[in-house]
Amino acid sequence: MENFICVQCGTQFSESAKPPLHCPICEDERQFVRHSGQEWTTLERLAADHRNRLEEEASRLLGIGTEPEFAIGQRALLVQSPAGNLLWDCITLLEDRTIAEVNARGGIRGIAISHPHYYTTMVEWAEHFDAEILLHTADREWVMRTSPRIRFWEGTRLPLWDDLRLINCGGHFEGGTVLHWPAGENGKGALLTGDIIQVVQDRRYVSFMRSYPNLIPLGATAIRRILEQVESVAFEQIYGAWWKANVLSDAKAALRKSAERYLRAITS
Ligand SMILES: [Zn+2]
Ligand SMILES: [Zn+2]
Repeated sequence: MENFICVQCGTQFSESAKPPLHCPICEDERQFVRHSGQEWTTLERLAADHRNRLEEEASRLLGIGTEPEFAIGQRALLVQSPAGNLLWDCITLLEDRTIAEVNARGGIRGIAISHPHYYTTMVEWAEHFDAEILLHTADREWVMRTSPRIRFWEGTRLPLWDDLRLINCGGHFEGGTVLHWPAGENGKGALLTGDIIQVVQDRRYVSFMRSYPNLIPLGATAIRRILEQVESVAFEQIYGAWWKANVLSDAKAALRKSAERYLRAITS
């Protein structure tokens, strides 16, 4: 028996004797099946020719990504907080070096994930670090490996320790979630957004899509909802899903002008 991993999206599945026939996450219109067809690997095989890069994205914010790039290619973020660290988003590869580095920074109290594209091997991480996984219940159908460590939350807000807070913005996925980290940027606040709010190449702006690889935009109602959900929280920075994909100053204004630009484009 093996917990197979989809090579295209990096999602690990519940134990099976043979690789699954399908990956529902890749067959969904927001992802795609690779041109050469569905392919599977295991954590052990992945660890044989990949390693994680660990690098500070900011003070008390450790980026963790895989090299060479694997699956979707996002990097996770370890938010180091006094009452316990939070792993924001997740990546597939977990190896000894990463475990040691994360433990040296105080381990992981909880894992929160923006949306199903980054569920990856969340259960492996939770088991290694004895952590709870917090997922929005609207996306529960996309969990491919179940575990008693997963707690599904409902509504639009989930307060955590040290004033950390999960906010359901929807958009890209119904359960699409961002994390408010009030201690970020010396107390001015930061928003960690995965690709619910996507930091684009021009890092003075962000954008929003139902599907990034298939270029399916979001409608005006979804854009307005994202804005409304983060209106009441203070933040100076936005940390996106990729290395250095961050808006480092005046991020709340950047979000507002990006949303206005987007609404002009889809309604004119
Ligand atoms: Zn997949
Ligand atoms: Zn995504």
